[in-house]
Amino acid sequence: MIKIVLATNNAHKVSEFKGCFNQKGIDIEIVTLKEIGFCGDIIEDADSFEGNAYIKAKAICDYTGEIAVADDSGLVVDALNGAPGVYSARYAGENSSDSDNIEKLLNELDKLGEVPRTAKFVCCICAVRPDGEKLFVRGESAGEILKELKGEGGFGYDPVFFCPDFGKTFAQLTSEEKNSISHRGRAIEKLAENLDFFKA
Ligand code: IMP
Repeated sequence: MIKIVLATNNAHKVSEFKGCFNQKGIDIEIVTLKEIGFCGDIIEDADSFEGNAYIKAKAICDYTGEIAVADDSGLVVDALNGAPGVYSARYAGENSSDSDNIEKLLNELDKLGEVPRTAKFVCCICAVRPDGEKLFVRGESAGEILKELKGEGGFGYDPVFFCPDFGKTFAQLTSEEKNSISHRGRAIEKLAENLDFFKA
């Protein structure tokens, strides 16, 4: 059994992490920021997913003195020059909800008229050990932004992210289907190939 402190309080991310590891037959215990009693603010001010994942993992590794893992992820839309990118969680402003962010995304694309709506989700995971060693893995998943929402599952931009391989949005997939193809699932696949990093 592997235990990791995951630098998040996002319940969706935690359940996707668990699901992805379990789908690979890896038994894992995931401890969240709330569970370690961390209630400080971590300023994610890097301009890359890798940079922000490192900031989060390093802050929590320093706090606990134990290995910490963080995921920084987001949506990259070609016609918007990569936006919302690292600002995905707060695209419509600080404390914006998923539906606020989707509304802003659809409006921004609307303003451009008939443009290609290709996009990808990116997930960068960083693990930091107390001895200073760090590990980075990245996963991506390509798709298209629909003009309207479809599906009830998932979180974030899932209802407007159409996945060509399944012919459905991420919000219409079962969690097993999403994990098998998602940016997070792909990054975790690479993390699972590096489990020795956690045992050292
Ligand atoms: P983070 O918590 O700073 O990594 O922000 C990630 C943001 O990107 C989330 O709040 C969502 O808006 C978006 N995002 C990341 N992964 C997904 C996903 O799997 N589905 C939908 N939206 C996602």
